[in-house]
Amino acid sequence: MSDKPSEAAPVDKEDNWGYDLYPERRGEAARAKWWQIALFGAGQTNVEKTTCERNVYNCFENSPLVKLMYSALKASGCEIDLRRHIACEVCDVSVSGGYDPKLNQIVVCQNVVRNKGIIQGILTHEMIHMFDACRHQLDFKNIHHLACTEIRAANLTHCSFMSAMFQGDASPFRIRKQHAECVRVKALGSVMAVRPDVTKEEALAAIDKVFTKCYNDLEPIGRRIRRNSADMIRAYEEKGNYGYE
Ligand SMILES: [Zn+2]
Repeated sequence: MSDKPSEAAPVDKEDNWGYDLYPERRGEAARAKWWQIALFGAGQTNVEKTTCERNVYNCFENSPLVKLMYSALKASGCEIDLRRHIACEVCDVSVSGGYDPKLNQIVVCQNVVRNKGIIQGILTHEMIHMFDACRHQLDFKNIHHLACTEIRAANLTHCSFMSAMFQGDASPFRIRKQHAECVRVKALGSVMAVRPDVTKEEALAAIDKVFTKCYNDLEPIGRRIRRNSADMIRAYEEKGNYGYE
Protein backbone atom coordinates (compact mmCIF):
# COMPACT_ATOMS: atom_id res chain seq x y z
CA MET A 1 0.00 0.00 0.00
CA SER A 2 1.16 3.55 0.34
CA ASP A 3 4.84 4.01 0.70
CA LYS A 4 4.96 7.07 2.84
CA PRO A 5 2.94 7.95 5.86
CA SER A 6 0.46 10.58 4.85
CA GLU A 7 -1.56 13.17 6.61
CA ALA A 8 -4.63 12.33 4.57
CA ALA A 9 -7.86 13.38 6.23
CA PRO A 10 -10.00 10.44 7.29
CA VAL A 11 -12.63 9.84 4.64
CA ASP A 12 -15.41 7.30 4.26
CA LYS A 13 -14.56 4.57 6.73
CA GLU A 14 -16.23 1.64 4.97
CA ASP A 15 -14.59 1.87 1.62
CA ASN A 16 -11.40 3.70 2.20
CA TRP A 17 -8.49 2.35 0.27
CA GLY A 18 -6.57 5.57 0.35
CA TYR A 19 -7.98 6.29 -3.10
CA ASP A 20 -8.20 9.95 -2.24
CA LEU A 21 -4.44 9.90 -2.58
CA TYR A 22 -4.66 8.74 -6.20
CA PRO A 23 -6.83 11.21 -8.11
CA GLU A 24 -6.52 9.33 -11.38
CA ARG A 25 -8.02 6.24 -9.76
CA ARG A 26 -11.43 7.89 -9.99
CA GLY A 27 -11.27 8.00 -13.73
CA GLU A 28 -10.54 11.67 -14.10
CA ALA A 29 -7.12 13.00 -14.86
CA ALA A 30 -5.74 15.21 -12.13
CA ARG A 31 -5.85 18.83 -13.11
CA ALA A 32 -2.58 20.69 -12.79
CA LYS A 33 -2.52 23.33 -10.10
CA TRP A 34 -2.22 26.92 -11.33
CA TRP A 35 1.39 27.21 -10.23
CA GLN A 36 2.31 24.00 -12.02
CA ILE A 37 0.87 25.36 -15.24
CA ALA A 38 2.65 28.67 -14.69
CA LEU A 39 5.98 27.01 -14.03
CA PHE A 40 6.02 24.04 -16.35
CA GLY A 41 3.10 24.27 -18.74
CA ALA A 42 0.36 21.65 -18.81
CA GLY A 43 2.38 19.33 -21.07
CA GLN A 44 4.62 18.55 -18.12
CA THR A 45 2.25 15.78 -16.99
CA ASN A 46 2.71 13.84 -20.23
CA VAL A 47 6.47 14.18 -20.08
CA GLU A 48 6.37 12.88 -16.50
CA LYS A 49 4.27 9.90 -17.53
CA THR A 50 6.62 8.94 -20.35
CA THR A 51 9.67 9.29 -18.10
CA CYS A 52 7.98 7.23 -15.37
CA GLU A 53 6.98 4.47 -17.80
CA ARG A 54 10.49 4.37 -19.20
CA ASN A 55 11.94 4.04 -15.68
CA VAL A 56 9.48 1.25 -14.82
CA TYR A 57 10.39 -0.62 -18.00
CA ASN A 58 14.07 -0.16 -17.20
CA CYS A 59 13.57 -1.73 -13.73
CA PHE A 60 11.86 -4.76 -15.29
CA GLU A 61 14.81 -5.13 -17.65
CA ASN A 62 17.66 -4.50 -15.22
CA SER A 63 16.72 -4.69 -11.54
CA PRO A 64 17.52 -8.11 -10.03
CA LEU A 65 14.89 -7.59 -7.32
CA VAL A 66 12.13 -6.58 -9.70
CA LYS A 67 13.05 -9.45 -12.01
CA LEU A 68 13.00 -11.85 -9.05
CA MET A 69 9.56 -10.63 -7.99
CA TYR A 70 8.38 -10.90 -11.60
CA SER A 71 9.54 -14.54 -11.72
CA ALA A 72 7.99 -15.33 -8.36
CA LEU A 73 4.65 -13.88 -9.44
CA LYS A 74 4.78 -15.73 -12.71
CA ALA A 75 5.60 -19.02 -10.98
CA SER A 76 2.63 -18.43 -8.67
CA GLY A 77 0.26 -18.02 -11.59
CA CYS A 78 0.07 -14.23 -11.40
CA GLU A 79 2.21 -13.05 -14.27
CA ILE A 80 2.59 -9.29 -14.58
CA ASP A 81 1.64 -7.53 -17.77
CA LEU A 82 3.31 -4.14 -17.61
CA ARG A 83 0.49 -2.37 -19.44
CA ARG A 84 -2.25 -3.99 -17.42
CA HIS A 85 -0.73 -4.12 -13.93
CA ILE A 86 1.51 -1.08 -13.57
CA ALA A 87 0.25 2.46 -13.89
CA CYS A 88 2.16 5.72 -13.76
CA GLU A 89 -0.21 8.30 -12.35
CA VAL A 90 -0.42 11.70 -10.73
CA CYS A 91 -0.84 11.29 -6.97
CA ASP A 92 -1.14 13.37 -3.87
CA VAL A 93 2.40 14.52 -3.10
CA SER A 94 2.39 12.68 0.24
CA VAL A 95 2.65 9.24 -1.42
CA SER A 96 5.13 7.74 -3.84
CA GLY A 97 3.36 4.58 -4.88
CA GLY A 98 0.69 2.08 -3.95
CA TYR A 99 -1.10 -1.16 -4.68
CA ASP A 100 -4.74 -1.16 -5.69
CA PRO A 101 -6.11 -4.54 -4.58
CA LYS A 102 -9.41 -4.12 -6.40
CA LEU A 103 -7.76 -3.76 -9.80
CA ASN A 104 -4.61 -5.72 -8.87
CA GLN A 105 -2.61 -2.75 -10.06
CA ILE A 106 0.56 -1.06 -8.88
CA VAL A 107 0.59 2.71 -8.97
CA VAL A 108 3.85 4.61 -9.38
CA CYS A 109 3.45 8.31 -8.64
CA GLN A 110 4.96 10.00 -11.68
CA ASN A 111 4.85 13.47 -10.13
CA VAL A 112 6.58 12.37 -6.91
CA VAL A 113 9.29 9.88 -7.87
CA ARG A 114 11.68 10.37 -10.70
CA ASN A 115 14.63 8.37 -9.40
CA LYS A 116 15.12 4.87 -10.83
CA GLY A 117 16.46 3.51 -7.54
CA ILE A 118 13.38 4.69 -5.69
CA ILE A 119 11.10 3.31 -8.39
CA GLN A 120 12.86 -0.04 -7.99
CA GLY A 121 12.10 0.08 -4.25
CA ILE A 122 8.46 1.00 -4.85
CA LEU A 123 7.97 -1.71 -7.46
CA THR A 124 9.52 -4.38 -5.21
CA HIS A 125 7.46 -3.22 -2.20
CA GLU A 126 4.19 -3.21 -4.12
CA MET A 127 5.01 -6.49 -5.90
CA ILE A 128 5.28 -8.11 -2.46
CA HIS A 129 1.68 -7.01 -1.82
CA MET A 130 0.76 -8.39 -5.23
CA PHE A 131 2.54 -11.65 -4.41
CA ASP A 132 0.72 -11.93 -1.07
CA ALA A 133 -2.59 -11.19 -2.79
CA CYS A 134 -1.81 -13.87 -5.35
CA ARG A 135 -0.52 -16.55 -2.99
CA HIS A 136 -2.38 -15.99 0.23
CA GLN A 137 -5.80 -14.67 -0.76
CA LEU A 138 -5.08 -11.55 1.16
CA ASP A 139 -8.03 -9.57 2.42
CA PHE A 140 -6.74 -6.00 2.49
CA LYS A 141 -9.73 -4.91 4.57
CA ASN A 142 -8.57 -7.24 7.33
CA ILE A 143 -6.17 -5.19 9.47
CA HIS A 144 -4.07 -8.25 10.37
CA HIS A 145 -3.65 -9.22 6.72
CA LEU A 146 -2.74 -5.64 5.88
CA ALA A 147 -0.28 -5.45 8.79
CA CYS A 148 1.34 -8.72 7.70
CA THR A 149 1.93 -7.72 4.10
CA GLU A 150 3.26 -4.30 5.16
CA ILE A 151 5.67 -5.98 7.62
CA ARG A 152 6.88 -8.24 4.82
CA ALA A 153 7.29 -5.40 2.35
CA ALA A 154 9.21 -3.24 4.85
CA ASN A 155 11.32 -6.20 5.92
CA LEU A 156 12.29 -7.32 2.44
CA THR A 157 12.84 -3.89 0.94
CA HIS A 158 12.94 -0.58 2.78
CA CYS A 159 14.51 -1.59 6.10
CA SER A 160 17.00 -3.92 4.50
CA PHE A 161 18.28 -1.16 2.24
CA MET A 162 18.45 1.15 5.23
CA SER A 163 20.16 -1.26 7.60
CA ALA A 164 23.69 -0.63 6.34
CA MET A 165 23.32 2.98 7.43
CA PHE A 166 22.88 1.92 11.04
CA GLN A 167 25.51 -0.77 11.09
CA GLY A 168 28.74 1.04 11.96
CA ASP A 169 30.34 -0.83 14.82
CA ALA A 170 27.11 -1.93 16.42
CA SER A 171 26.87 -5.49 17.64
CA PRO A 172 24.98 -7.97 15.46
CA PHE A 173 22.36 -8.18 18.19
CA ARG A 174 21.78 -4.43 18.09
CA ILE A 175 21.53 -4.46 14.32
CA ARG A 176 18.91 -7.18 14.45
CA LYS A 177 16.94 -5.24 17.03
CA GLN A 178 17.19 -2.03 15.02
CA HIS A 179 16.14 -3.81 11.86
CA ALA A 180 13.05 -5.23 13.52
CA GLU A 181 12.21 -1.80 14.93
CA CYS A 182 12.63 -0.24 11.49
CA VAL A 183 10.17 -2.77 10.06
CA ARG A 184 7.70 -2.08 12.86
CA VAL A 185 7.83 1.69 12.35
CA LYS A 186 7.71 1.50 8.56
CA ALA A 187 4.77 -0.94 8.63
CA LEU A 188 2.96 1.35 11.06
CA GLY A 189 3.32 4.29 8.67
CA SER A 190 2.06 2.20 5.75
CA VAL A 191 -0.93 0.76 7.63
CA MET A 192 -1.95 4.20 8.85
CA ALA A 193 -1.60 5.74 5.38
CA VAL A 194 -4.03 3.18 3.99
CA ARG A 195 -6.37 3.11 6.98
CA PRO A 196 -6.76 6.61 8.41
CA ASP A 197 -9.81 5.29 10.27
CA VAL A 198 -7.56 3.15 12.48
CA THR A 199 -5.83 4.65 15.51
CA LYS A 200 -2.08 4.35 16.03
CA GLU A 201 -2.69 2.01 18.99
CA GLU A 202 -4.97 -0.26 16.94
CA ALA A 203 -2.47 -0.36 14.09
CA LEU A 204 0.43 -1.18 16.45
CA ALA A 205 -1.61 -3.89 18.19
CA ALA A 206 -2.34 -5.51 14.81
CA ILE A 207 1.32 -5.28 13.77
CA ASP A 208 2.60 -6.75 17.03
CA LYS A 209 0.09 -9.59 16.90
CA VAL A 210 1.35 -10.90 13.54
CA PHE A 211 4.93 -9.57 13.74
CA THR A 212 6.97 -12.70 14.48
CA LYS A 213 5.22 -14.83 11.89
CA CYS A 214 5.30 -12.23 9.11
CA TYR A 215 8.79 -10.89 9.90
CA ASN A 216 10.21 -14.39 9.50
CA ASP A 217 8.39 -15.08 6.26
CA LEU A 218 11.00 -14.12 3.66
CA GLU A 219 9.28 -15.51 0.59
CA PRO A 220 9.92 -14.98 -2.26
CA ILE A 221 13.22 -13.13 -1.83
CA GLY A 222 14.58 -15.60 0.69
CA ARG A 223 16.84 -13.17 2.54
CA ARG A 224 16.95 -9.67 3.88
CA ILE A 225 18.84 -7.59 1.34
CA ARG A 226 21.70 -5.47 2.65
CA ARG A 227 22.64 -2.33 0.86
CA ASN A 228 25.84 -2.39 -1.21
CA SER A 229 26.09 -6.12 -0.89
CA ALA A 230 25.85 -8.93 -3.38
CA ASP A 231 22.64 -10.11 -1.70
CA MET A 232 20.42 -8.67 -4.39
CA ILE A 233 22.22 -10.53 -7.14
CA ARG A 234 22.65 -13.65 -5.03
CA ALA A 235 18.91 -13.76 -4.30
CA TYR A 236 18.20 -13.43 -8.00
CA GLU A 237 20.66 -16.14 -8.92
CA GLU A 238 19.26 -18.48 -6.29
CA LYS A 239 15.71 -18.04 -7.41
CA GLY A 240 15.71 -21.55 -8.85
CA ASN A 241 16.11 -22.89 -5.31
CA TYR A 242 12.71 -21.46 -4.43
CA GLY A 243 11.06 -22.74 -7.57
CA TYR A 244 11.00 -19.45 -9.45
CA GLU A 245 12.45 -19.37 -12.90
ZN1 LIG B 1 2.83 -1.19 1.32
